[in-house]
Amino acid sequence: MFQAFLIKYGEIAIKGKNRYLFEDALVAQIRHALKGVEGSFQVTKEQGRIYVESLEPFDYEETAEALQRVFGIVGICPVVILEDQGFERLAEETVSYIAKRYGDCAKTFKVQARRARKTYPKESMEINAELGGKILERFPGMKVDVHHPELTIYIEIRERIYLYSDVIPGPGGMPVGTNGKSMLLLSGGIDSPVAGYMVAKRGVKIDAVYFHAPPYTSDRARQKVVDLAAKVARYAGPIYLYVVNFTDIQLYIYEKCPHDELTIIMRRYMMRIAEEIGRKTGSLGLITGESIGQVASQTVQSLAATNEVCTMPVFRPLIAFDKEDIVTLSKKIDTYETSIQPFEDCCTIFVAKHPVTKPNLNVIRRSEKNLEEKIDAMVAEAIETAELVVVG
Ligand code: ATP
Ligand code: MG
Repeated sequence: MFQAFLIKYGEIAIKGKNRYLFEDALVAQIRHALKGVEGSFQVTKEQGRIYVESLEPFDYEETAEALQRVFGIVGICPVVILEDQGFERLAEETVSYIAKRYGDCAKTFKVQARRARKTYPKESMEINAELGGKILERFPGMKVDVHHPELTIYIEIRERIYLYSDVIPGPGGMPVGTNGKSMLLLSGGIDSPVAGYMVAKRGVKIDAVYFHAPPYTSDRARQKVVDLAAKVARYAGPIYLYVVNFTDIQLYIYEKCPHDELTIIMRRYMMRIAEEIGRKTGSLGLITGESIGQVASQTVQSLAATNEVCTMPVFRPLIAFDKEDIVTLSKKIDTYETSIQPFEDCCTIFVAKHPVTKPNLNVIRRSEKNLEEKIDAMVAEAIETAELVVVG
């Protein structure tokens, strides 16, 4: 019965010029999200509203579900579009809409009309009152409640007339592309995909970097990260994933540095490389899935040690989350099942039995001196040979 969706978005934060940027980015993201949905969709922007209309029959559920992944949307309203054939006809259509949609309805309700076409012969208040009257005539069980109605019938008078009553909640946030770009350190774990999702939700475009260590880590482990990037891309739009071969660097650290410092030093090199690739490709920040105290390399001392090597801001949206809450989110965005597939990642292979949990920066810096001879060239090579996979 529905031909279109009216898209509601948070308007409070967007004034003046930003409004156009916000709306244009939202339209672009909606178009992207609908690419995979059967149908021929037109996305139009008019007078502070965005409409998604289909020229062909479309799968209602699938379309609504795709729209629910577009950040910036707060509400998705399935709309019936009517030609203007006079007020009596509108009243009939409205009553028949309620009957079809809600059956023999006995709810409290109100009509909320908006007259965008000022030449329409009735004012909003008149439309509200008169349509309300017609509805009461047809459904004696219904009652008007203008303050807390169970059902609101929205009528928008434009060139045509738009009728709707459902608001499916959107994800909120801001359209991807309105807040610059950042580089996500994406591993095969539970946390980093969730971190990417959260930062993308604030309008930040995401690139990603994955460090793999063949043959110590398998192709399956790499594929798992590509799959995770694809899951995040369902929300964040296409992701440029840089796959960095980290094997030589890891082996070199293993050879030259104390093993209990291995994880910290490795993580420092990951940050350095991620930052360097990010700088070259237009990222303004880094994103990790770190959370205080979760593992030895995420004590506050360890975080300080890994943070020290970069100058870009590092976004750690999960920093104060309990694991349980992260798991809940990962299930919600459908990355969990992929994350728990049992493929080793490069950090788990070289970990010491008793890694330092309170690294002393001076000690770490001194250990890294042991790498001086070759490490810069190795880092440069890792960056140069990074393989780009475009996902989503
Ligand atoms: P995750 O669940 O995201 O893997 P984790 O709890 O396993 O996190 P660590 O292994 O200590 O934590 O990694 C901390 C963060 O460092 C990750 O959230 C991720 O952002 C980044 N990271 C770790 N390993 C890799 C890797 N192989 N490639 C890219 N980033 C990585
Ligand atoms: Mg991990």
